[in-house]
Amino acid sequence: MSLAPPPPDPSLPPVRINLFSDTQSRPTPAMRAAMAAAEVGDEQRGEDPTINALCGRVARLLGKEAAMFLPSGTMCNEIAILTHCRPGDEILAHESAHIATSEGGAPWALAGVRVVGLPGPRGQFDAETLRRALSPRGYRYAAPQTLLAVEQTANFGGGSIWPLERLDAVAAAAREAGLATHMDGARLLNASVATAIPPSRYAAGYDTVWIDFTKGLGAPIGAALAGPRAFIEAAWRWKQRLGGAFRQGGIAAAACLYALDHHVGRLAEDHANARRFALLLEEIPGLAVEPPETNLVFFDVGALGISASAFAESLRREGLLLSAFGPARLRAGFHLDIGPAETEEAAAIIRRQAARLRG
Ligand SMILES: *Cc1c(COP(=O)(O)O)cnc(C)c1O
Repeated sequence: MSLAPPPPDPSLPPVRINLFSDTQSRPTPAMRAAMAAAEVGDEQRGEDPTINALCGRVARLLGKEAAMFLPSGTMCNEIAILTHCRPGDEILAHESAHIATSEGGAPWALAGVRVVGLPGPRGQFDAETLRRALSPRGYRYAAPQTLLAVEQTANFGGGSIWPLERLDAVAAAAREAGLATHMDGARLLNASVATAIPPSRYAAGYDTVWIDFTKGLGAPIGAALAGPRAFIEAAWRWKQRLGGAFRQGGIAAAACLYALDHHVGRLAEDHANARRFALLLEEIPGLAVEPPETNLVFFDVGALGISASAFAESLRREGLLLSAFGPARLRAGFHLDIGPAETEEAAAIIRRQAARLRG
């Protein structure tokens, strides 16, 4: 069995509207110009001025002492886990968390830790659920529980925004139990733009936090992990070990700085397009739409008597690309290559396919 995605089928028309994920945007000409003009040096020697500037900027944005530039969000999560935990430890996170479901088993494979999955609607849980999952303190038979991890926004929770009070309460319960705290902020800036709560405030109760530049921010590469200075120092050993240390990586960091300057406020447009798309889908009989809070829209096609993957395939034949999650659930991700016109057209394609199935 091949693990690669199937090769493009030459009989299919080109993808005209790509809602597969918010990772599907292409770097803009202005972003490419910023990359071409970047001042660079050897990052491993601390000499890349563009990466240094980006790290300072991210540390301030997230309210932490220091930050580290990495190739991907997955590497931010895994380096954080490797630095926070030791083999045999347990991480407490939502059962749908990216670290538990979508990183190739890296916490097990690389760090030797188990992710204990907590239940709860919309990819979230409350402090009480966390407390129930804690093993008794000083209990020698249980695995050491050393880390709490949350996702803001919760990806498979429908891009839902953790309310600040819940984030704070969960972090406080973890701290009380002696756990460190980590926030996967792949889409933290989406939450901040939607609520006007600063990212540093959302992350205040968390020891470490990272943001991704390749989601709605539209950069081709890069993520940054922030935390206490001593933590980032320790994390550098893992960055070096895993081959995540750059040379003239300022070329990539320039795209990320450009995204922070130009692509944060516009996330509100993605949220508006997602809301409009959801409203249009709600009018289609046979679809169950999860009301979007940010740029991701999940909906269920089970009532049409078709699987998510077969429905996605039928849309693909019309030039619309979406992703299937689970037997009947699909996801549309809005990003900077999708405007109001593409949003309307995508909904119209789905309306036609649903009508065909009903008829
Ligand atoms: C995309 C994503 C990641 C991984 O980020 P990459 O940059 O794709 O490695 C981690 N967590 C969440 C919630 C994500 O959506």
